[in-house]
Amino acid sequence: MKNIVLLILSFCTAVLTNAQERGIINNLESPHVSLKSIDIGDCKWTEGFWAEKFKVCEESMVPYMEEVLTGDTGHALNNFKIAAKLKKGQHKGMHWHDGDFYKWIEAALYVYAQNGDENLLKKLDAYISIIGQAQEEDGYLQTQIQLRDKFDRYENRRFHEMYNTGHLLTSACIHYRVTGKRNFLDIAIKHADLLYTIFYPETKQYGRFGFNQTQIMGLVELYRTTQDSKYLKLAERFINNRGKYKVVHHETTKGYPIGDMVQERTPLRESSEAVGHAVLALYYYAGAADVYAETGEKALIDALDRLWNNVTEQKMYVTGAVGQAHYGASSNRDMIQEGFIDAYMMPNMTAYNETCANVCNSMFNYRMLGLHGKSKYADVMELVLYNSALSGISLEGKNYFYSNPLRMIHGSRDYHAHENVTESPIREPYLDCFCCPPNLVRTIAKSSGWAYSLSGNGIAVNLYGGNELNTKLLDGSNLKLTQKTDYPWEGNVSITIQECKTEAFDILLRIPDWAEGTTIKVNGQSINEKVVAGKFAQLNRKWKKGNIITVSMPLETNFVEGHPRIEEVRNQVAIKRGPVVYCIESPDLPKDANILDVYISGDTKFKVNHRKDFLGGISTIESEILIRSDKKQGMYRTIKMPNWESHKTTFIPYYAWSNRGKAEMTVFLPVIW
Ligand SMILES: [Zn+2]
Repeated sequence: MKNIVLLILSFCTAVLTNAQERGIINNLESPHVSLKSIDIGDCKWTEGFWAEKFKVCEESMVPYMEEVLTGDTGHALNNFKIAAKLKKGQHKGMHWHDGDFYKWIEAALYVYAQNGDENLLKKLDAYISIIGQAQEEDGYLQTQIQLRDKFDRYENRRFHEMYNTGHLLTSACIHYRVTGKRNFLDIAIKHADLLYTIFYPETKQYGRFGFNQTQIMGLVELYRTTQDSKYLKLAERFINNRGKYKVVHHETTKGYPIGDMVQERTPLRESSEAVGHAVLALYYYAGAADVYAETGEKALIDALDRLWNNVTEQKMYVTGAVGQAHYGASSNRDMIQEGFIDAYMMPNMTAYNETCANVCNSMFNYRMLGLHGKSKYADVMELVLYNSALSGISLEGKNYFYSNPLRMIHGSRDYHAHENVTESPIREPYLDCFCCPPNLVRTIAKSSGWAYSLSGNGIAVNLYGGNELNTKLLDGSNLKLTQKTDYPWEGNVSITIQECKTEAFDILLRIPDWAEGTTIKVNGQSINEKVVAGKFAQLNRKWKKGNIITVSMPLETNFVEGHPRIEEVRNQVAIKRGPVVYCIESPDLPKDANILDVYISGDTKFKVNHRKDFLGGISTIESEILIRSDKKQGMYRTIKMPNWESHKTTFIPYYAWSNRGKAEMTVFLPVIW
């Protein structure tokens, strides 16, 4: 009997050491996750769209951002140096600037995991050493407080201590997973231990302190890394506290809106509507999804399902962007900023759609994909990635948008995107509020880690793109495959098995919700399994080396209309081809034409044209548009029959706009049927 137990134990150990523990989120042992992360670095983009984006990320985005954040333009490293007494000076930048630096480190780690550049790692370790020297004896580490005499620790939640903490913990866990070294992780543990002593006890003083709650995700990841359950308990405490206290100003909340703005009017488990600041909301939901992955609490997942439905069915843009308004009110009439307003209220020109919020939407969906194993979540991840995430950065990877509206006319950005930061109609090389750029860059850097997930007995293909996968299935067996495709410009994908176990296993292929009529062949033979748009096609076979799966998705150019409740797009259409949303931009209009004069005929014909040397290599859509040439003044005008001029033009992917100078742009166009 003893021998059998020993045999079973040694088998289990062998399985664990073989299995994947270095995922972007390490949900390998999370009991309530059905699709688990592959290890960071297991998938490499090799050719095509994402390989090109990753190359820009590696060669331009990450190095350029390092220059900015370690120099005097950004202030992040300087702040750590001053706190470490390695430099004299004062704290500069926003309260959350430490967090921005942690996000950049995380991005650089994903790049290192792909290219093994030891120089990059050396530099990161030097920065980590400075961060360690800035940390106080008891673990406290927040330069925005340490360097400002007038602020006390945990005095007011708006100073973003929780936000910086969350990014510290996440980045340190990734560093440990990628390098196996503890230098950053030990800093994070020391910091989290302090946090536990202050925030785990139930006190009125700190009951409402959770704010911009990346700390929930960070704590769960630290729990997964260390197996110390106190971090998970603390993560859960932040969820339990939210909505528990009366919504009146308290000394820790002064100077910032309360209530729905920070998701504290309704406890999460009772919530059905996404409210408040979109970044705060989506980070909170993503963190709650991580907690659910460990606890399996039904009330939590039921709430997250309701909130997901609310966001995607009533408050999300066609680009996957979220956060309809800069200022507004919730349905409880709490003042909100930079976030969700009423259902179906979707302004184009004044949409806030902060890059961070869009990125958070994809992070939330990646977690929901893991929990439910349904492809609809990967559909949203993909929608965000190709559209409202990539729009946040210029093609050469050095200039950024903070907000991502769906229409731009000259003079329409005369509002402030953030306190002291005026949003510009062109991307800027530095934003004083620098939360978005490193958030987006780390997302592009880790996108290959999102491309596949491990299922119970096999692999799920979440995202398409030329890549090589070299991973282990959950039973420890090796799986190598290569994927070739010109997606998203072409709909054909070819996956070749290079190495796999002899026993049968599943290959799950995501059939996007728009890809009605997709066909799949294995070694040239049509398959018998069902292929349904919006679901994973499940192919269970005894696979062997050289097997080829071909997926053919019909890539049609389509008009997309909004729900009739969205007044802002009544009688308007957007153009979408596969996952890519298109727009029209003023460089493609006749000289004197205004973007607001452009209409499109419902029977217009589209011609797709792939242009390798245009805007980083894109498929454009050529079409006729109608331009109103009768100019009238005044807010309301009498109209009989407008004058139309027909014009041949080019639609470009939304993400690629504003790369040809200052321009006007629109996604939705009025249509004449
Ligand atoms: Zn941001």
